[in-house]
Amino acid sequence: MPGTLYIVATPIGNLQDLSQRAAHTLAAVAAIACEDTRQTHKLLAHLGIEKPLLVFHDHNERDRTAALLARLQQGESLALVSDAGTPLISDPGYRIVDAAIEAGISVVPIPGPAAFVTALSASGLPTDAFYFGGFLAAKSGQRRKQLESVGSLEATLIFYEAPHRILESLEDLAALWPTRPIVLARELTKLHEEFLRGTPSELHATLADRPSIKGEFTVLIGKGALAPQPEETVPVHQEVARLEALGIPRMEAIKTVAKDRGLPKRTVYQLLEDARNL
Ligand code: SAM
Repeated sequence: MPGTLYIVATPIGNLQDLSQRAAHTLAAVAAIACEDTRQTHKLLAHLGIEKPLLVFHDHNERDRTAALLARLQQGESLALVSDAGTPLISDPGYRIVDAAIEAGISVVPIPGPAAFVTALSASGLPTDAFYFGGFLAAKSGQRRKQLESVGSLEATLIFYEAPHRILESLEDLAALWPTRPIVLARELTKLHEEFLRGTPSELHATLADRPSIKGEFTVLIGKGALAPQPEETVPVHQEVARLEALGIPRMEAIKTVAKDRGLPKRTVYQLLEDARNL
């Protein structure tokens, strides 16, 4: 009789968020497949559990799938965990789940935290329909395309983003949707949990003011305009042209618009270039 593959959600920060069912499952299985043994050791130490750990991450997922499948077929039950939250949600595991289903092995989810649902629930943005897009692309051009491809959905948009790219992403959001409401959910369930709400450029200004930007971010984008902000609905290139028409030198006009919109000058240059190529 084959074993069962348990997909076990673990906390996204606060260890008290681990469910009793997750703890019982981790204690009962023969071994635990995990991303980073140090992270999972910490969790198991907190629970007072000792278990063999099988390293399973993006780079060895293909090779490890066959080994895990063989153990399941030999009757061992296994748990799959990720470093934080729900496995397979922007985390490895898809291959083993797919292969287990294909092999007729039972796959049982043990639900628990996922950052995007946690963020959405307290964001104050509409929850009737939402789109979760995983991580934002690392490069601005791809990121803008990724955002634009879902921009007209009647839904709250949710993405994961790394702290060292959050300012660049806010610049792209300011260029695409200057008035849409944005919520940044940072360090959810942890000591420094915070929700920052505002337009993309307001949030850019808030974060740019900090000595350093740390922690884990989930980005939520509302569907409507935050508030009537007529001056911000004028496209950047038109605003620069208007100032030039008033006799303000081009460089000065660009500097002023960048400052007013809370954008770096290079973003304004890029927008002028984009408008010229339309
Ligand atoms: N499997 C996880 C889940 O269920 O949410 C997501 C893993 S993904 C590799 C990690 C990303 O999720 C982080 O870069 C961040 O964008 C988001 N994230 C994870 N924990 C978070 C937290 N405590 N607060 C805000 N965002 C978080």
